[in-house]
Amino acid sequence: MRTNRSVALCWCLALLTLQAMAGAEPSDRLAIVGGRLIDGLSGQASTDAVVLVEGETITAVGGREIIPPGTRLIDLGSATLLPGLIDTHVHPLMLGDDYQIDHLRRSSAYKALRGLAAVQRGLEAGWTSLRTVGTADVFYAPVDVKRVIDEGLFHGPRLAVAGHYISITGGGGDINFTSPEQSLIADGLIVDGVDEVRRAIRQEVKYGSDWIKLLVTGAFMSAGDNPKDVHFSPEELAVAMEEANRLNVPVMAHAHSAEGIKMAVRAGVRSIEHGTFIDAEGIELMLQNGTYLVPTMYIGDYYIEEMADSEAQKKMVELSAKYRDEFFENIGNAIRAGVKVALGSDFGADPVLQSREFGSLIEAGMTPMQAIKAGTSVAAELLQWQDRVGSIAPGRLADIIAVAGDPLADISELERVVFVMKGGEVIKASTQ
Ligand SMILES: [Zn+2]
Repeated sequence: MRTNRSVALCWCLALLTLQAMAGAEPSDRLAIVGGRLIDGLSGQASTDAVVLVEGETITAVGGREIIPPGTRLIDLGSATLLPGLIDTHVHPLMLGDDYQIDHLRRSSAYKALRGLAAVQRGLEAGWTSLRTVGTADVFYAPVDVKRVIDEGLFHGPRLAVAGHYISITGGGGDINFTSPEQSLIADGLIVDGVDEVRRAIRQEVKYGSDWIKLLVTGAFMSAGDNPKDVHFSPEELAVAMEEANRLNVPVMAHAHSAEGIKMAVRAGVRSIEHGTFIDAEGIELMLQNGTYLVPTMYIGDYYIEEMADSEAQKKMVELSAKYRDEFFENIGNAIRAGVKVALGSDFGADPVLQSREFGSLIEAGMTPMQAIKAGTSVAAELLQWQDRVGSIAPGRLADIIAVAGDPLADISELERVVFVMKGGEVIKASTQ
C-alpha cells in the first residue's frame, strides 16, 4: 500500500516536472508588451502593460519584471492593450439595406458563407465574441456559421447564437408589405398562441440556438408594424419564459415601447434590446431584476445619414430621426440610474460601424471607460462568459487586442485595431 502510494507520488512529480518543462518552451509561452493596459475590470488604465500567455490562457498581468527569461515577446511599443471586443447584438448574415427582402433573394447556404466572411472581418477588426440575434435566414445558417468555427474548419470569433427572431403574425419578423394572396416564408419564426410559442422555442433549441429572441414589440426596420405596439400577449410571453427556463436557454427581448419593456422585464428576460422608450418605472424594474440593456443607438444615426434616400428604409430613417433625442435621453437616464448596459451595434457585416456604438454610448452619458466595459466585461457577463472572456486577467482566455493610441482620449481608436489575438492565437499583427 505504502509502496504503491510512493510510486504514484513519484509519477505525479514526474508529470508535474514534464509539464513545467513543456510550459517553459518558448513557443508555448509569450509576453505581449504594450504601453498601456485597459483590463476591462478596473476603473483606470495601467502602465504595467505586460500580459503573459500560455497556450490559450492568460497566466499573468503586470510589468516587465514578470517576463521569465527566454519568453517570446510580442512588443507592441506604446500601444494600448484591451480585452477582445464583444458585440452582443449583430446580424452578420444581413446586408444593411435589404432587410426583409434579403432572405427571399439568396439561399441559406450563400448567406452562411457571407455571414462567415462577415464575422471573420469582425474578428480581424477586434470583435472576438459576438451574439447573433436572428439574421435574415429561414433555416439555421447562423448556427452553422458557429458550428464550423467551433469545429476548427474556419477561423472566426466566439459566437452565441439566436437562430431567429420569434414574432407574431404582422410583427417585426413577418413580411407585412405583400398582398394577402402571397404566401412567402418570413425569416422570423411566426407564432400565434401559446402552443406555437412553445413549439418555436423547442425548435430553436433543437437546432442549436444558444439564445431565444422574442420580438415583444413592433420594430423600427420592418415595414407595416409599429414599435410602440406590444405584440405578445402576457400568456404567450409567460409560456415562452417557462419553456426557455426549463430548457436552460436565456431570453432576450426586442422591445421599444415602455409597456413592452416592462412586460418583458417582469417576465424575466435576461436582456432588453433597443429599449428606446424606456421610462422611470422600466428603469427601476430593470435594476430590481438585474436585467441587461442593449441599446443599439448608432445604427439610427447611420440610417439617417446614409440611407436617407432608400425607399426600403424609409420607415427606419423617419423613426430614427423623430425619436433620436428621446432615445438618447432615455438611455442616458438608464445609464445614470445604474442599469447594466452592454454594447450591441445592430450591424454585423461592417466592424467599423460596430465600433461607432462606443461613441454613442458616451454621447448618451457613459464615460469612455464605462463604454469600453460595456463592450468587454459587461457584455461578457450578459453572455455568462465572464469567467472566459471580457477582461485581461489570469485564467481568462487570451482574447487580447491593441490600438495604437489611447481610446480613453479618443474612442475612435477602437475603429483602428492593430493587433488581435483570440485564445492565444495571433489573428492580426499589423505594423505600426
Ligand atoms: Zn437587431
